[in-house]
Amino acid sequence: AAIPSDSPTIFDKIISREIPHHVVYEDDNVLAFRDIRPQGPIHILVIPKVKDGLTGLSKAEENHSTSWAAFSTIVINDGPQGCQAVYHIHVHVIGGRQMNWPPG
Ligand code: 5GP
Repeated sequence: AAIPSDSPTIFDKIISREIPHHVVYEDDNVLAFRDIRPQGPIHILVIPKVKDGLTGLSKAEENHSTSWAAFSTIVINDGPQGCQAVYHIHVHVIGGRQMNWPPG
């Protein structure tokens, strides 16, 4: 089945502030906000404001994102089999509890 990756998603409405959200970090290119259904004490979603725009990230923005990564589990759900629900590329940063592997 085709993946509707070019269609608008709920994250467009978050970027445009139509939907309230708790901002953790924001600049011209990147938005990080708390997941509405947190899977741990810390659950942040990091998204590029331009869809599929990761190649546009500056070094400083990359470094900021990776400093959270040092203390957290990073999850990317990719495609239908990966249980991706929102087709706007995003990274989950989850931490603050014991993680299990494999996740099952
Ligand atoms: P995935 O596509 O990787 O499965 O996950 C999408 C994530 O977006 C889920 O963890 C879900 O809880 C989160 N999410 C979906 N809708 C909203 C929303 O309106 N606000 C916020 N803050 N998170 C959302």
